[in-house]
Amino acid sequence: MSDLAPLRDVLEAHGLSADKRFGQHFLLDLNITRKIARLAGPFEGDVVIEVGPGPGGLTRALLETDAEHVIVVEKDRRFIPLLQELADSCDGRLTVIEGDALKVNELELLKGRTGHLVSNLPYNVGTPLLIKWLTGPWRPKSLTLMFQKEVADRVAAPAGSDAYGRLSVISQAVCEARVVMDLPARAFTPPPKVASAVVRLDPRPDPPSTGMLQALEKVTAAAFGQRRKMLRSSLKSLGGASLCEAAGISPEARAEVIGVAGFLRLAEASRS
Ligand code: SAM
Repeated sequence: MSDLAPLRDVLEAHGLSADKRFGQHFLLDLNITRKIARLAGPFEGDVVIEVGPGPGGLTRALLETDAEHVIVVEKDRRFIPLLQELADSCDGRLTVIEGDALKVNELELLKGRTGHLVSNLPYNVGTPLLIKWLTGPWRPKSLTLMFQKEVADRVAAPAGSDAYGRLSVISQAVCEARVVMDLPARAFTPPPKVASAVVRLDPRPDPPSTGMLQALEKVTAAAFGQRRKMLRSSLKSLGGASLCEAAGISPEARAEVIGVAGFLRLAEASRS
């Protein structure tokens, strides 16, 4: 690994530059990617899935950790030969998959092994990917994900804050979520328009069932769809005041002050 050429030279040798259509903003400073890998670990011999490796800066850092194996999923086929070269230099510890992370079946990739997720996410699909991992059949052991700062703040926002919304409730019902690193736009090549942040999500030992998550999605969509209204009116189609009363929530409260536990009670009540 220490013999590898600098990432800028590798990009130049392959005639590659960033393509906006794939949300490409690269981290070429290995000090930064190593810090992200440290924040994501330890992996203790588990597998790590990385979405969108691009030139492989984060991949290199992940290969330096205690992960037994790293699987990368990259949609832009121009990067596959470069990633394959990296795979050839690391004794079978790296598997390169060309594909769309929104469609990939992680359980098939893992073949019965447990896995963590680490990614500098493409901004255009960051939120749908997070929802897929929070609500899908595969339960990652941890997720360490770079988002644009505004999205990272929404994922980790506490009740009562401006950023608190649907994404906060769904994320925090399934995981403990915290922002662990802020990065300015200039850390990326090319720099995006906005700052970024890394969120670490650690799944709760007793996550809600699929049925509860579906109910939670319905309740939060209605409640935050009209976040300035009282719940008795924003939740009208789901039972309004009587739903709130069944959940022990004041029908006069607004969505933004209801914590995750309150939303879980509303979801539960909406199912009975
Ligand atoms: N990990 C690299 C880094 O930190 O330098 C690149 C990060 S860049 C923000 C996002 C990467 O995701 C790009 O390589 C892009 O081609 C890839 N990508 C975009 N959409 C994707 C998708 N649906 N599935 C898999 N990879 C995708």
